[in-house]
Amino acid sequence: MTKQFREEDVVQVEDGVHAVYGSDVTWVVVRSGDSATLIDTGYPADRANLLASLELLKVAPEALSAVLITHAHNDHLGSAEWLRATYGVPVLMHPEEVPHARRDFLDQVSVGKVAANAWRPGVVPWALRALGNGGTADVAVAEPQAFPAPGASGAPGTLDLPGSPVPLHIPGHTAGHCAYLLPDSGIVVGGDAIATGHPTSRLKGPQLLPTMFHKDRERALAGLSALEETDAEVLVPGHGPVYRGSVREAVRLVRERG
Ligand SMILES: [Zn+2]
Ligand SMILES: [Zn+2]
Repeated sequence: MTKQFREEDVVQVEDGVHAVYGSDVTWVVVRSGDSATLIDTGYPADRANLLASLELLKVAPEALSAVLITHAHNDHLGSAEWLRATYGVPVLMHPEEVPHARRDFLDQVSVGKVAANAWRPGVVPWALRALGNGGTADVAVAEPQAFPAPGASGAPGTLDLPGSPVPLHIPGHTAGHCAYLLPDSGIVVGGDAIATGHPTSRLKGPQLLPTMFHKDRERALAGLSALEETDAEVLVPGHGPVYRGSVREAVRLVRERG
């Protein structure tokens, strides 16, 4: 049920930036010298794939500067606590996502809500895979850390990590959801702000995930304005293939679809 590791699922996006297609979800490795930033970690059951992808990229897990989390859903947070507890890798995220990662509460689509959507094409096979991959497992992070607060201007600061990621707070999917701009390569690692495909959607290309997945869909749509302020030319979404083209244009397409 969990995807077998295949080298072709590790895709170079730009120099030093690789997207890894896991089980219906994507994580990103940003290398700089001997260290790297890992953005998201896949499902709990993706751990072997995650480690295989790091090995292929010659990044030792203990050499990770940080695990940067877009948001604390199980398909993104799966191995964060394991990396922290095993190798001491800090797990960083937006301050509003910290209690979510600690599982003080859980803002994730419930089994009941998925069941109510079971009539939709693709939902049942996806849900069975999600359950098998640890979609409802306990992945609480014992010590999640907030990255430094935005500057006085309110503009989020560059993080002192490989790739110099700049957090873009896009709340709605969850309260503390962030995309990360990699300014040197013009790449946005989008998390679940925009998808380009999902097993439960018939649409191809830039889109919002189906409604059941969002805490507040309208807010998620409005929050995309943070992406419109970038000149990024590549989007690596949490779900679906890498999108090459103006990220502003991708947002326009999403808004058009409503
Ligand atoms: Zn999500
Ligand atoms: Zn997701």
